[in-house]
Parts: sequence; C-alpha cells; structure tokens
Amino acid sequence: MAALALRVDPIADAGELARFWAKVVKGPGSGDCWLWTGAISDDDYGRFYLKREGRARCVRPNRYVLAAVLGMDPANVAVAEHAVCDVPLCVRVAGDATGHVWPSTQALNLARMAMRSRGGGPWWNWRWRGGDRASTAARSRALRSAVANGWDATAVRAVLDAPLPGQGVLQLFDD
Ligand SMILES: [Zn+2]
Repeated sequence: MAALALRVDPIADAGELARFWAKVVKGPGSGDCWLWTGAISDDDYGRFYLKREGRARCVRPNRYVLAAVLGMDPANVAVAEHAVCDVPLCVRVAGDATGHVWPSTQALNLARMAMRSRGGGPWWNWRWRGGDRASTAARSRALRSAVANGWDATAVRAVLDAPLPGQGVLQLFDD
C-alpha cells in the first residue's frame, strides 16, 4: 500500500475521528487490545476510508491511529508494528507503556525489552505469524465478530487461543 501523507487535525477532522473511534471496541483491561471492527482486507489488517484533498483514500487503522493519537504522519512511519500483542486489528496507540502499536523503531525496542524481561506482556503475547494469509484474515474476521456486541473477553480469548492451520508450536510467553 502506497504511503499516504496524512495529517489528522483534532478539530478539522473531528467527524472523521468520531467515525474512526466508533468502529473500535476497547477492552476494559489495562492490557487489553482495542480492536478495529470496520472493514478488513485480505491481508488481515483493517481498512479505514477517508478523504484528503477531495480524494478518497484508504489507510490501515493501525497507521491512522499513529497520526490521530501521536500526531505522526504515517508516510514517515515505515511500519506500524504491534510490539505488545501482534494482533493486526489492534489500534491501541497511547504513546506510553499501555500502548500496543508503535512506529517500527520503538516497536522493535519494546519487543526486545519484552524478550529480555519476559514480563509485562498480555497472555496472548504470542506471534500471529505462521498461518497462511487466508487463515489469518479469517481470524481477524472471527475476532471482529467476537466483539460485535461489545467486548467479550471469553470470545476474544477463544479466537486468540486457537492455533492457525499450519502453525507450529505457539510461542507463549511466561506470565
Ligand atoms: Zn493489542
């Protein structure tokens, strides 16, 4: 997906921001994900449609929140990574220790720190990678369904605990 020069102005783009957050279901726990429940593309990430300069655009929600919350231009962020949860639909950007999504460099640093300390991560802190694209996209859709009527911790956990077809041993971290 081509990088999009994007600024999100809290006042001028208030309607767009409201539309974005209306599609996010936030887990109540301090370590819970904030899950995107809008459109999901075949690559298992979400899609958020907006307009800039009169043109329809499409961005990944996990990049959009970097602009919305941290004021970063996604065009200058190589990758928005999920350093804590690795859940593609997660948009928990906070800019502090409670955040799950970080610009790439910070994400890598956080991942390294987590590996060293082996602590602080949520229970689903294992990698989603390893399944094929169709199965990870199916999981994203299952996760979206799990929170269709609000946060349902049991349903969310059931989706995240299920191994992907073709996936080997889950890399669980010690809690
Ligand atoms: Zn998360």
